[in-house]
Amino acid sequence: MNSEQVEIRFGDKRFQIKIVWNHRKRLSVTVHPDLRITAKAPAGYELEVIRQRLEKRASWIARQLDFFERFQPLPLARKFVSGETHYYLGRQYRLRIRPGEKARVRLIGRFFEMELPDTGNREKARALMLDWYSAHAKDLLSRRLAQYLPAFEKMGAMVPEVRCRRMKKRWGSCSGKGVIMLNTELVKAPIHCIDYVIIHELCHLLYPHHDKNFYHLLGRILPDWEKRKERLEKVVI
Ligand SMILES: [Zn+2]
Repeated sequence: MNSEQVEIRFGDKRFQIKIVWNHRKRLSVTVHPDLRITAKAPAGYELEVIRQRLEKRASWIARQLDFFERFQPLPLARKFVSGETHYYLGRQYRLRIRPGEKARVRLIGRFFEMELPDTGNREKARALMLDWYSAHAKDLLSRRLAQYLPAFEKMGAMVPEVRCRRMKKRWGSCSGKGVIMLNTELVKAPIHCIDYVIIHELCHLLYPHHDKNFYHLLGRILPDWEKRKERLEKVVI
């Protein structure tokens, strides 16, 4: 028996936890940023004993899950019509669509000025906005990351492969193989929030889990990271 799944309850919530037995002395539980919950148990511990012990830690597990769940964008249903507000670097800009021969969008003053052959083509308007964000995100995110990377390299971090992509559920991630993914929608957030996400993921190059070491490093580099994270939680995309 190497691993098994248990379910524990906390109020009206249920948590699925994967248990792995190994040669450790104590039971430990980890909530991962992707919301998986795993536990390591000493060899010979019975499933029911483990379940009872985990139940005692349910409120802690719930808090951890809550923490990771909120590291996510708030999506807003958008219509892509004139007058609608869209964000860039934490500021609001009004979308203004007018007829034009070529489809294009530019940020001018307080407006996203869009030209469309067919001003009612919302699919096209949406595609134009997505392209605009994605192009600006790739440039900005890679520049910001390059700025912070040397400090992490000095601490022994490997040079990550950076990918930018539109994601619905998260702002960023860092894989064990050193791939940092950043959500292109981040450019809608204020720059100090963008930097928080980038530095958060860079910290994962050294410490893959949200453990003491991770938060110690994050706090040393960004003493106000909690404020930035709080602000980020209010960002709509
Ligand atoms: Zn993280």
